[in-house]
Amino acid sequence: MTKFTELDLNPKVLKAIEEAGYEEPTPIQAGAIPPALAGRDVLGIAQTGTGKTASFTLPMITMLARGRARARMPRSLVLCPTRELAAQVAENFDTYAKHVKLTKALLIGGVSFKEQDALIDKGVDVLIATPGRLLDHFERGKLLLTGVQVMVVDEADRMLDMGFIPDIERIFSLTPFTRQTLFFSATMAPEIERITNTFLQAPERIEVARQATASETIEQGVAMFQPGRRDREGSDKRKLLRALIDREGAACKNAIIFCNRKVEVDALAKSLKKAGYDAAPIHGDLDQATRTRTLDAFRDGTLRFLVASDVAARGLDIPAVSHIFNFDVPTHAEDYVHRIGRTGRAGRAGKALTISGPKDEKHIADIERLLQKEIPRVDLPEAAPAPEPQAEAEAPSEEKPTRSRGGRSRRKTSAPPADEAAPAVAAQDAPAQEDASDEAAAAPEAETAAAPEKPAPRRRSRATKDERGEPAKVVGMGDHMPRFIALSLEERLAG
Ligand code: AMP
Repeated sequence: MTKFTELDLNPKVLKAIEEAGYEEPTPIQAGAIPPALAGRDVLGIAQTGTGKTASFTLPMITMLARGRARARMPRSLVLCPTRELAAQVAENFDTYAKHVKLTKALLIGGVSFKEQDALIDKGVDVLIATPGRLLDHFERGKLLLTGVQVMVVDEADRMLDMGFIPDIERIFSLTPFTRQTLFFSATMAPEIERITNTFLQAPERIEVARQATASETIEQGVAMFQPGRRDREGSDKRKLLRALIDREGAACKNAIIFCNRKVEVDALAKSLKKAGYDAAPIHGDLDQATRTRTLDAFRDGTLRFLVASDVAARGLDIPAVSHIFNFDVPTHAEDYVHRIGRTGRAGRAGKALTISGPKDEKHIADIERLLQKEIPRVDLPEAAPAPEPQAEAEAPSEEKPTRSRGGRSRRKTSAPPADEAAPAVAAQDAPAQEDASDEAAAAPEAETAAAPEKPAPRRRSRATKDERGEPAKVVGMGDHMPRFIALSLEERLAG
């Protein structure tokens, strides 16, 4: 077994590792650190939870400790798909570089340009950024990428899902050909393979075991939901979720509840709260301060239920979660693996329950194929709503007929419900729901999660994402202009 002390890391980094309480390197660390320190390109196929962040931060700090930053020319660059992940990588740098004098800047939406510009002007060792925001800074002439010696691409598969690949290619082309590249992805889709073949030079390839096969401690189950009346489908499904939560009793200490769309995240969090459950939403449209506050509360145990979208939850390091509830079956089997990997960590027992409706059968089959096992069907709790049309009605506020599939004409003419959870977001996301295709449903989440991080002129270069997301939006938005669109960025952040 390799020891940290055998890895040729800077002694100050070793000290920080010891203080973090790590006893030995994880497989991705043992595999990636030596070639990274030798100056080689690395292709790490690993997902969150494997210790992949330290596998690039530790050698980077060691290498950066040797030189000095120059004004406007960062020496290294880490690209992350979401703000949360970027912020987490920045935290990792703080932890492991606490005995080394390094400067860093974080370029993400929700953080002021001015402050970051001032840091960049002085010179930074590490620039951690989401691709859109980095290009914003570059285009404003505030930043030169010709001094980048090491470039990291983290969670490349998620970058692909979010339509960031053209941006990544552009950023690669702005950095020196001689740079070292450390590239991480949970999966190797053909597009990712193409990028690595184009931009990496003879990389050392390290692949670590998938989480799904490792997490035998997770008890999984599928609750088959038979909707009754169509206009009550949403409220019946929420009722079933509450019944499933209640049945777990005290064993359910805390849980992440996943939805496929932001609109559902908001509506569900609001409905749970109303029913007396301690729940809060997290998704890409919330400002950074709110997201940080919510996550901190969930981490320290003052918030019991985190209702999340895949993009927002991706890469979040939350140590102990007793339960995962999939309110929606993820449309990509990989996402199921990511979601349930949030429980059963470090040998702890965990439980993952998925609500599946008649339209979800195909996705459940895909997941079972990926897992190479069948997920047991669980009995429905007694309190679950009956499938008959006469299913007991819930509080009127939860009735959202305007959200039902195929309700395009109704939505246009009907007034928004009085107790709408998030009218602005709902209006924006709704078209994707009507579109019904997985791709279209996934695109708006990515689009808006990244929205504050990109300027209008570059949109032309993002053909993939725009083609997927925009035509549907125009139709569904109708004459209604959601309030948040009219607000300036500052107002949105202040709100
Ligand atoms: P990551 O896959 O980078 O998101 O890391 C997952 C978690 O593992 C984080 O909480 C890290 O602090 C932790 N971690 C990273 N490396 C080690 C290690 N060698 N030993 C124990 N924990 C680690």
